[in-house]
This record gives sequence, C-alpha cells and structure tokens, in this order.
Amino acid sequence: MTISTPKAATPNAYTSRRLFMRLWRGYLSRHKWIMALAFLFMVLEGSTLAALSWSLKPLFDRVFVGGEGDLIWLVGGFIFALFLIRATTLIINRSLLTRIAQKTSTAMQVDLLAHVLTLDGPFFQVNPPGALIERVQGDTTAVQSVWSVLITGVGRDLVALVSLFGVAIAIDPVWTATTLVGAPLLILPTLAVQRYIRRKTDHVRTQAAQRATRLDEIFHGIAAVKLNRMETYQVGRFREIVGRIVRAEVKTAASRAMIPALIDVVTGLGFFGVLLLAGREITSGERSLGEFISFFSAMALAFQPVRRLGDMAGTWQVAAASLTRLYKLFDTEPAIRRAVAARPSDPARTGIRLDDVYLSYGDHQVLNGLSFVAESGKTTALVGPSGAGKSTVFNLLTRMVDPSSGRITVGGDAIDDLDLGALRDLFSVVTQEATLFDETIRENVLLGRTDVSERALETALGAAHVSDFVAALPQGLDTHAGPRGSALSGGQRQRVSIARALLRDAPILLLDEATSALDAASEALVQEALERLSKGRTTLVIAHRLATVRDADKIVVMDRGRVVEEGTHATLVAGNGLYASLCRLQFSE
Ligand code: ADP
Repeated sequence: MTISTPKAATPNAYTSRRLFMRLWRGYLSRHKWIMALAFLFMVLEGSTLAALSWSLKPLFDRVFVGGEGDLIWLVGGFIFALFLIRATTLIINRSLLTRIAQKTSTAMQVDLLAHVLTLDGPFFQVNPPGALIERVQGDTTAVQSVWSVLITGVGRDLVALVSLFGVAIAIDPVWTATTLVGAPLLILPTLAVQRYIRRKTDHVRTQAAQRATRLDEIFHGIAAVKLNRMETYQVGRFREIVGRIVRAEVKTAASRAMIPALIDVVTGLGFFGVLLLAGREITSGERSLGEFISFFSAMALAFQPVRRLGDMAGTWQVAAASLTRLYKLFDTEPAIRRAVAARPSDPARTGIRLDDVYLSYGDHQVLNGLSFVAESGKTTALVGPSGAGKSTVFNLLTRMVDPSSGRITVGGDAIDDLDLGALRDLFSVVTQEATLFDETIRENVLLGRTDVSERALETALGAAHVSDFVAALPQGLDTHAGPRGSALSGGQRQRVSIARALLRDAPILLLDEATSALDAASEALVQEALERLSKGRTTLVIAHRLATVRDADKIVVMDRGRVVEEGTHATLVAGNGLYASLCRLQFSE
C-alpha cells in the first residue's frame, strides 16, 4: 500500500506564473466577457479621478483668479456628474465582481469535492476530515480575492494612476519626475517581503487546517470529551492553535503593510521635492496657482491607488499559498489502480477466493499469506481473535485498500481487473457501526436512489424490522436520524442499514455482526432480518454469535493475518484447536 502523493511534486510546479495560468484556464477564462465588462466600468471609475483634478485648473485660474463667474456652473456641474458616474459604476462593479468571485470559488469547491471523492483509504488515513473541510471551504475563498483584486487593481487603480500622471505630466514633466525620485527604493524590499508573506500565509493555512481538525474531532467525540472531562484540555489545545494563527497573521499583516508604508515614505520625499521646486516658480510668477493646485491634487489622488497597487503583490502571495495547497490536492491521484472498465464476466458466479494475500500498514504486517475460498451462495464465517485481520478482508474485497501482494478473485475475475464501481455494486456491506446521515430515515434507506417503488421500500422496511419502530415515531419515515444517526438506538441503526442492503439487492453480503450494542429483543429482530438478507446470497460474515457460526456452511479461523483452521462447527470442535478454545471461552461466559 502506498500513500498518494501529488504527481507534480516538484517545487517549481507551483510557481506564481503556473498557478495563475492554471487558475486562468480552469476557472477564470470562462468569465472573460463579464470580466471585460467589469474592466470597462473600472476604467470609467478610475478615469474620473484624473478628470476631477484636471477640472481644478480652470476652476482656479479662470473662475477664482480670472473672475469668469458664469463658468462656475459648468465646472460645478461637471464635477457633480463625475461623482454620479462613480456612484453608478460602484454598484455595477460590486455586482459583477461578486458574481465572478462567487462563481469561481464555488466551481472550485464542487470540483475539489468531486476529486477528493475519487481518492481512497490511504489518502483519508493521512488527511483528517477537518483539514479537508478547511481546504474545500477556506482555501477556495482565496480564489475570490484574486479576481476582485486583479480587476480592481488593473482596471481602476492602474487607469487612475496613468491618467493622473498624464494630467501631472501635462502640467509639468519636471515636477512629475521629481515626485518619483524615491521610487527605486521600493524594488528590493517588495521582492523580499513577498516571499516572507507566502511562507507565513502557508503557516496560517496549516494552522487553520489544524483548527478545523480539532473542532471536528471535539464535536464528533463530544460524548467522550464530556465523560472523560476533557473540556479544559481540549480548550487549551484549541487556544494554542488559534494563538499560533494570531501570531502568524499579525506577522503577515505587518509585512504586507511594509510596501504601502514604504510608498508613503517615497511619496513624502516626492512631495517635499516638488514643493521646493514649484514654490520658487510660483512665487516668481513663472507658474499659476491653478496649475499647482491641479498638479498637487492629481498627485494626492494618485496616492491611494498607488498604495493599493503596492498591496496587490501581497494579496497575490496570500492567494498563491492557498492555490498551491489546492492544486497539490488536485494533483493527488488515487492509490487504488483503476481497471480499464471490465464488468464481471458471469454475474451469477460470486464465489470469493483469496490467494496468498499480504498487506501491511507501514511496518505493521496485517495479513500474512491469507488464503481461503467462500463459495457462491453459501455462508462463510470469519472467526478469530480481535486484530486477526477480519475487517481488513472486507476492505480488500471492496478495494478500500489494495494488498501488497497476492490475488483476490470474485466469480473468477481478479478484482483489480474489474471496474471499481461494478465491483462495489457486487457487495452489500452491513457493519457494526452503521453510518447514518443526518437526514430522514427514508433518505437514509434510499441513499439517493429514485428508482425504488413505494412498495419495494415498504417490503424492505418490513423485512428489516424498520417498520416496527418507525410506526412509533411522530414523523414516521420522515423523522431525522440525527448527527450520525444518534437519534436512533444501535439496534435501530443496524436495522436501517439492513433495509439499505435489502434494497441494494447485491449478490454478495459482507456482514460484520454486532453483538454488544443490542439487547436480547432487538438482537432477535436483527438476527431474523439478517437471515432474510443472506438468503440466496454469497455471505461472508465476521461472526461473533455462536448461532451464526454453527449454521455457517464453512468457518474460517484466522489468527495474525492468516488462516489457522477451517471447516464446519462440528469438525473444528472435534479438532480441538483455536476455534474449540474460542468456543469454550464463549460458553464459559
Ligand atoms: P479484526 O477485524 O480481526 O479485529 P482488523 O482487520 O480490523 O482486525 O485489523 C487488523 C490489524 O490491522 C489490527 O492490528 C489493526 O491495528 C490494523 N489496522 C487496521 N486498519 C488499519 C489502518 N487503517 N491503519 C493502520 N493499521 C490498521
């Protein structure tokens, strides 16, 4: 068994350029027309600032100084119109950008979930649910910001900047050049800070995944937390994690502020220089006051766009940290090798054969040359001490894991030659821990199937003894089962899962018997339902009850990952081996 790793594991597979290109091709390009529209409106919004500063020159030189009183209506009206345009573009832009941002991030969420569902046991072994939830929900929202920041930045701020500088240059190119003297100071710090931001953000994302994992574990294990009085301990661990997040976020924010802060310093230098230069020219009468006011306001209005553009690099780095994690997940391939598409060669034959099967989890050898046959249409019981590898056999048959070596066939077909879906269609699995969803009992039995008639459903519910207890529930079949089925008792949950299996009507039944969870009355009901279910099917049962074992067509006794004895109840008891001693143990209880 191998742990899945991204196929494109080289570090430069996730450079900024490649991340952006993948994002563009996969999610952004499909919105290019809406983007173009948003871009146009952004340009409109951005250019209003330049128009505003441009209008100050006639206001000062012709109205205030020149005394052309009538012109004030024209200039005033023009300025008011500019603000009306800004108000309209603001609403349009906000709607367009939100639309794109939401559509891209949710499309990514859907794709990510679909992809994660193709992954298998080994992957979920190392990626806890909380961390995966954080990927699907937290990291995908990073995609939202990329969009808005990019269009806003390029569309509005860059256009504002270029046009404002245009106004400034038109007034005086030398003044304009003077404001830029400090600009080269920005280059090196900007580059250095970007790498730091990426690293810190990656740390924050890792901690956020841990936070989600902790919460998931606590809320799923709420009974254990309370009964073991772990509240303080769990809160303490949670506090540590969020503490780390706070520290990393503060460092990221401080380093992100570095660039706009440097821009402030550079701008201050520029203003100082221009004042020295222009002050002399105005007092000497060389330039008009209107020119200076117009120039100065252009520079002042350029200040916010420059700051925001300076922050764009930081925003991208934050998004890139999440994108790297997302694309690494997208690049993770299933560890279970998928067969081309073969269907079972003869659906009527469902005998199972394991031939010299080995399996280990890391260094832990779980199966050691396991071989046995379960005949078609018969019941085969797996018996043995806890940890012998009985449940592992079920996981192998349904290919939740693959063996390290050995051969497993169903109906004569090697299971790794069969289409994975077709293989899983062969099995109904009923285990001790029936997994119920927090949906109605009806939905829990149907599991999304729409081709089941009401009559077939009722027959299955009756045979599984679900009808018995559902009748007493206030909302009957439409009663919610609670988180993980917690509103039902252990025996009821198991009866629901038997009803599922009856509807599924698969030719092979894998049954992990529950014993301890059930009282005598529900045990009898469950037992009867199970007998109906296994009739006519190839049944492999992990047996705890002597009744099952006694009636089984064959008993396979396992110990430490291999078969130590097999036979019927009578022959094994007579053989006086491990089975006989397990029997004696149960009887003496
Ligand atoms: P049984 O059903 O006979 O009690 P299992 O098949 O559940 O035994 O487990 C066999 C051995 O495999 C146990 O020692 C268990 O610790 C180990 N094991 C099972 N699943 C995993 C897993 N996902 N990762 C690591 N070890 C596992």
